[in-house]
Amino acid sequence: MNFQDYAIATIGSHTALQILKGAKQEGFKTICVCQRGRERVYESYKVADEIILFDDLKAEYDEIEKQLIEKNAIMIPHGTFVSVLGHEKVSETKAMYYGSKDILEWESDRTMERKWLKDAGLKLPKIFENHKDIDRPVIIKFHGAHGGKGYFIANTPAEFEERIKDYEGDDDYVIQEYIVGVPLYAHYFYSPVNDELEIMSFDKRYESNADSIGRIAAKDQIEVGIQTSYTITGNIPLVVRESLLPYFFELGDGVVDASRKITPKGLFGSFCLEGIVDTNLNYYVFEISARIVAGTNPFINGSPYTDLRYDEPMSTGRRIARDIKEGIEQNKLDLIID
Ligand code: AMP
Repeated sequence: MNFQDYAIATIGSHTALQILKGAKQEGFKTICVCQRGRERVYESYKVADEIILFDDLKAEYDEIEKQLIEKNAIMIPHGTFVSVLGHEKVSETKAMYYGSKDILEWESDRTMERKWLKDAGLKLPKIFENHKDIDRPVIIKFHGAHGGKGYFIANTPAEFEERIKDYEGDDDYVIQEYIVGVPLYAHYFYSPVNDELEIMSFDKRYESNADSIGRIAAKDQIEVGIQTSYTITGNIPLVVRESLLPYFFELGDGVVDASRKITPKGLFGSFCLEGIVDTNLNYYVFEISARIVAGTNPFINGSPYTDLRYDEPMSTGRRIARDIKEGIEQNKLDLIID
């Protein structure tokens, strides 16, 4: 089969615009699986050859999947796909899936994720299993529904005990060392088709209200009783000091190598390290996303880094489509489809 016999599909949210646009740039047919009421976006930007509508993705997914299989579509997962379906449902999906499903379990389990990142040689913020051991600034991060909202900072066990009272009944949180520095998200692409790791771009997030608290005086912050929250509203592009690039390449290699020890196919495609750079230029990673992240969205027309490597606009979405195209043409599709 040649690549025109395949379609590329994704859920209409998150990074769908660049995934679909990139697939079209590479010559694929595109399918947007879209919640009813949101289709205007994908029609307006003309990125979808076909739109399949749903009201409840999880309930209707088996039916939708039959259509995807008929159309020989490859599903590109992103954050919304995984969070709506859940990693167990995703691991049972039958349509062609770009990425490694085994990795999802490692990524979604905090203990397994930490083991993977440690094996990769990364520096991680310390985790406090018992709040009585808090001996430095810590950030208390709630999992699931809260998202970045409602995280709080504490400096001592007593401060923790006071603040946690507001969250009675919610014990799904982690107490993590608070790293003072700047947040930095590194976007990678590793292709097993050509066995090469690329740095695609970097971003930082624009979080409400953490990114605007500094606009009012400390006195007013205290008087108004502001609680810091990290609700993500957008992404801001970044370039890093060039002297940091060798370090970031090494970190990416470490993560890919360690992933091969945990699942046979390992990690491939787009992934992102999320962390803080301190004043000594150490990068503390608090999370990995094993798929395309929304921080790549500012780079639909390419980033300064992809511009160096490619003589054409290369978004992460397009890079995925190119990987699939090369996989088909070189008979290596099995390396990248689960
Ligand atoms: P997360 O929900 O883990 O993506 O974190 C949301 C935000 O909290 C990040 O973008 C950072 O600004 C901040 N943050 C998370 N973990 C830490 C940490 N260990 N030290 C400092 N800031 C952090």
